[in-house]
Amino acid sequence: MSLDKIRLMSDFLRGGANQSHGRSVSAKGKHRMEVVIPNTSAEKLSGGSILNRSRSHWWNTSDSYQPSAPLVGQADVDVCIVGGGINGLSTAYHLKKLEPSLEVALLEAEVVGFGASGRNAGQIIMKFGGTSPERLVGSYGAERAREAWNYIHRGIALIQDLRLDEDIDCDYANTGTMNVCLRIEGDGHVDEAMRLMERMGQSQYVAYVESERVEQELGSNQFGAAYHESRGGQFNPLKLVRGLKRAAERRGARVYENSPVASIDTTENLMTLHTGLGVIRCKKLVLATNAFTHLLPGARRLGLAREQTPLMVKGVITQPLSPQQWERVGWPRRAGINIHSDLFYSFAPTADGRILYVGGYYTSAPWDRNLAPEIDTRLKRVGPDHLAAFFPALYGVGVAQTWGGPISITPDWIPHVGEARDPRILYACGCWGNGMPCGMQNGRTLAELALGKHTENADAWFVTRKKRKWPSRILAAFLAKGVIRKRHVANRRIGGRMTPPLRFPR
Ligand SMILES: Cc1cc2nc3c(=O)[nH]c(=O)nc-3n(C[C@H](O)[C@H](O)[C@H](O)COP(=O)(O)OP(=O)(O)OC[C@H]3O[C@@H](n4cnc5c(N)ncnc54)[C@H](O)[C@@H]3O)c2cc1C
Repeated sequence: MSLDKIRLMSDFLRGGANQSHGRSVSAKGKHRMEVVIPNTSAEKLSGGSILNRSRSHWWNTSDSYQPSAPLVGQADVDVCIVGGGINGLSTAYHLKKLEPSLEVALLEAEVVGFGASGRNAGQIIMKFGGTSPERLVGSYGAERAREAWNYIHRGIALIQDLRLDEDIDCDYANTGTMNVCLRIEGDGHVDEAMRLMERMGQSQYVAYVESERVEQELGSNQFGAAYHESRGGQFNPLKLVRGLKRAAERRGARVYENSPVASIDTTENLMTLHTGLGVIRCKKLVLATNAFTHLLPGARRLGLAREQTPLMVKGVITQPLSPQQWERVGWPRRAGINIHSDLFYSFAPTADGRILYVGGYYTSAPWDRNLAPEIDTRLKRVGPDHLAAFFPALYGVGVAQTWGGPISITPDWIPHVGEARDPRILYACGCWGNGMPCGMQNGRTLAELALGKHTENADAWFVTRKKRKWPSRILAAFLAKGVIRKRHVANRRIGGRMTPPLRFPR
């Protein structure tokens, strides 16, 4: 479709050509055509406020939301960002913070927080990608592991600072996290993790917790020793991304929602992106589409089709616990609990007095366009039994909601952030299941890279290195399915040894 036709269509949608305020903007000596959409039309175009309660607990309990208008007509910008999750929004925010004169636009296919950033487990965890400290040090050595760990440390600090600087109320509680062993597996993982924390220069942030103390604090004899990591805690991720969107907009970034990018043309000096209603041209492009990256138009041509593969992770949240139930369960630190085992489980208290949990068993490996939120109704049945098996005081606590969200996994288990095949294009994906601090930090890194800066982020080894790719998209999905199946077998084996045994649905 020609640009004239798109302009005509946008005029029609905005109620006639006389409402179209095309204006010429001068930036760095260049004239740009920009279409200005009046606020009233923006509301009309966005279709009013939305709730989408079933998308996640955060959506269910959020205020109704008024999306920004979609991109209509044509705009020229310095940097265009695709994807309104933590990575994309943080990039927009940091670009405007570092270089206020820059024209920055962000295109989100649905609304901000539609992806994993609005559907996750709400824990801020000190971890780099899908790796344990053991695997990170084993694969990359202690020095590189230290650099990676410090990167996440800065990501957590960014979230904490931004919350205060930009007045973002996201129910953040700096409780740290408890990383526990399963008693039936012994305390080896925690002993080893403590040793590696020292090698990575992180020991001042972690404290060993004896198994007797863990049992006393958590009212559970399923756990062995633990280490308490003092950084991070719990938060409401949807409130964070919406707050980040407002902060980016306040600094002058333009966020267009309901604007799925349908084509990316990189043949000219200015790259051109088409959405259903509009066209945007840009000098630099940032692709922050995470688990959706392989679905981007031209992903193969851009060299990004095999960068990552999606994994659907399912979340479960209980009904609110009564004060008596909280008293019975104990949990004095109110820290999230992450189990160090092939039987992975993660439990976290929420600000509204519930427990949110995700488990390694509840994953699936979709591929191609099958990335719809998966609501696994079996979890309503088995969830309460599993919770009670770990925390007997929670016997009888019902499940309020289950949902699914896509995480992005890489063949080398670590996040991918940096330059694509075409150096004008930057991208980030593969933050695994703990990508909120990593994504926040990636946004800063991508902004620095876009501005050609050399910093400890932009020059980090995992940013500048050649990234490992999956052998093929289909093989990636099969390999992921294979890993899941192996984990399922391990879950049944380990769960079967627990008392009472943990039973998993087939
Ligand atoms: C159930 C679950 C639990 C998790 N728990 C935690 C946790 O406790 N702590 C933690 O730190 N992390 C957790 N994670 C991981 C974390 O949520 C992700 O790593 C992080 O949100 C990734 O952010 P992102 O911005 O890269 O991607 P996303 O938030 O997925 O954003 C990508 C965006 O790109 C948009 N998009 C895709 N294609 C297009 C297109 N063509 N045009 C325009 N827009 C497009 C999508 O609509 C989407 O909004 C969890 C994830 C899940 C699913």
